[in-house]
Amino acid sequence: MSIAICPGSFDPITLGHLNIVRRTSRIFDEVVVCIMHNAMKPNPMFTMEEKVEMARLVTRRYPNVRVDWSDGLLAEYVKQYPGAVIVKGLRAASDFEYEFQMNLINKKVNPELETMFLTSSEKYTFLSSSVVREMAFYGADLTGLVPEEIKDEIMEKAKHWRAK
Ligand code: ADP
Repeated sequence: MSIAICPGSFDPITLGHLNIVRRTSRIFDEVVVCIMHNAMKPNPMFTMEEKVEMARLVTRRYPNVRVDWSDGLLAEYVKQYPGAVIVKGLRAASDFEYEFQMNLINKKVNPELETMFLTSSEKYTFLSSSVVREMAFYGADLTGLVPEEIKDEIMEKAKHWRAK
């Protein structure tokens, strides 16, 4: 059985992420969306529980996709799925440099590990979680950026951030 791991911070999950997950689910038998605690992004907008819950809500329509989380190293996490492949989305040249570096580091920890990249769909190349957080912070409409089911939760959270 082929397994893909789609890792990321998903703070919050966007339509760009979902596009990659959906396309991955058509290629692999099983997809694990793994929400990673990223030590380099120390002030997330959402708690791990909230990120997991939102990701579960918007991926429930895909029967071969499930959501998990980890606060460890991705290369270690993946060891529990022998033969699994990491699948990531590539937006622009900046993603490429970062991902190239990450891939080398992952290979050092786990030499068997392979990473594959899907290029971003044209309409989502500009989209990132940080764009969503910023727009929500200023009260802008998130239609077309995040799944409808989680729009209100993001706006609600942004309201609390504004009040801080
Ligand atoms: P970000 O915080 O930059 O949105 P994450 O760390 O959550 O990203 O990203 C997880 C994965 O999803 C990465 O491989 C990233 O390149 C990919 N990704 C994020 N947004 C998009 C998008 N709009 N299109 C394609 N891939 C994306």
